Amino acid sequence: MLFDEKFRRPDGIQRLVKELWDISQETGPIRLMEICGTHTMAIAKAGLRSLLPPSIQLLSGPGCPVCVTPAGAIDEILRLSGLPDVILASYGDLLRVPGSVRGDTLLRRRALGAQVQTVYSPMEALEIAVQHPDQEVIFLGVGFETTAPGTAACILEAKEQGASNFSVLCLLKSTEPALRALIHAPDFAVDGFLCPGHVAVITGSDAFAFLPREFGLPAVVSGFEPADLLFSIYRLAEMLRQKAPALENEYTRLVCPEGNPAAQSAMERVFLPTDSLWRGLGTIPNSGLALREAFSPWDAAKKFGFSPSPTVELAGCQCGEVIRGACRPEQCPLFGRVCTPADPVGPCMVSGEGACAAAYRYQT
Ligand code: SF4
Repeated sequence: MLFDEKFRRPDGIQRLVKELWDISQETGPIRLMEICGTHTMAIAKAGLRSLLPPSIQLLSGPGCPVCVTPAGAIDEILRLSGLPDVILASYGDLLRVPGSVRGDTLLRRRALGAQVQTVYSPMEALEIAVQHPDQEVIFLGVGFETTAPGTAACILEAKEQGASNFSVLCLLKSTEPALRALIHAPDFAVDGFLCPGHVAVITGSDAFAFLPREFGLPAVVSGFEPADLLFSIYRLAEMLRQKAPALENEYTRLVCPEGNPAAQSAMERVFLPTDSLWRGLGTIPNSGLALREAFSPWDAAKKFGFSPSPTVELAGCQCGEVIRGACRPEQCPLFGRVCTPADPVGPCMVSGEGACAAAYRYQT
C-alpha cells in the first residue's frame, strides 16, 4: 500500500464520519478553525465539509501568509520594485496580490519593466545576488515559523559570504500572538483549533498548549491527509463532548513536543520579535520577526525604507473578516462575481492557500 493510501482508505474515513455524526447528536453546534493555509486547501480539496454533520462548522483562520500581509505592505513592495537597479525575488503567490489599487501587482509591474523574479527559496534569491553583483537583490520574506528558519539560514549565509548587494524585507510573522489576538477579538466564536502541522514541525506541538491551558480550548496538531484531518476533527469534537479540552498531537510522524532545535536556534540568532501589522487583525504586539542589529546590512527595511500606511481594503472586499473566520468566502458580496482567481480583488482569492481560492476552486 502506498503511504498516501493509508490515509485515504474509505473504510477508515467512513468510520470517522459515523463517529462525528454520533457525537453531533450530543453536542450543540461546534465551530472549529484551521489556522494553516495548507489545511484550508486540503479540507476543500477532499470535500470534507460535505461529509460533516451540519452542526460541525469548519472555519479558516489567519493561516495564509500572503493573505495576512496587509495592502499597505504590498504598496511598499510595489514602490521598491520601481527603484533603479533593484531586483525583487519573491515566492510566486505574492506576485499576484494587489495593493491598495485593484490590479496593481508585482506581476503588472514586471510587465511594465520592473525586475521581479520568482524563487522557491531564499537561497535562490541569494544566488541571483551573486550572479548580479552590480544590482541590489531584495528577497521578500513572508511566512510563518515554517519559512522563517530557511530565511534565517539564508541571512547567515549572506553574512558569511559578505554578500553586500543582498537583503531581506522581513515580513515574517509568528503564530501564537495572532491566535491570542484572534481569541481576544470581539467577534471570536470558535470552539477548538486544528493546529498547523508544518508550523509545529518547527515550534513543537507544545507551542499550542496555551490554548487549552489558558483559554479552555481544545487543540489538535494535524497532518494534511483526509484521514489526518478527519481524525483531528473527531478528536476536537470528542473533547468538546467530554468537556475535557486538551492539546493532542495527531501528526506524530513529523511533529514532536519540542520541535526542531536547530531551526529554532537559527531563528533566535537572526530575528527578534517586533510589532507587526496583519490584514484583518491590525497591529499585534511582538507578532512579527525583525532582523537583529548585527544583520542590519541585510535588512531591506533599513537599506531602502519601509513604512506601510494603515490598511484600507478595496471596496467591498471582506478579506479581513475571512481571515478572522468572521465571514465565509461565499458570504463576501464580491465572491465569484467580481472577484475570481483570474481577476482577484483580495489576497484570499489569489493565494494557493487562500480561503476564497479554495472555496471557489472546490465549491466547498
Ligand atoms: Fe476578498 Fe475576493 Fe474573498 Fe471577497 S471574495 S473576501 S474580495 S478575496
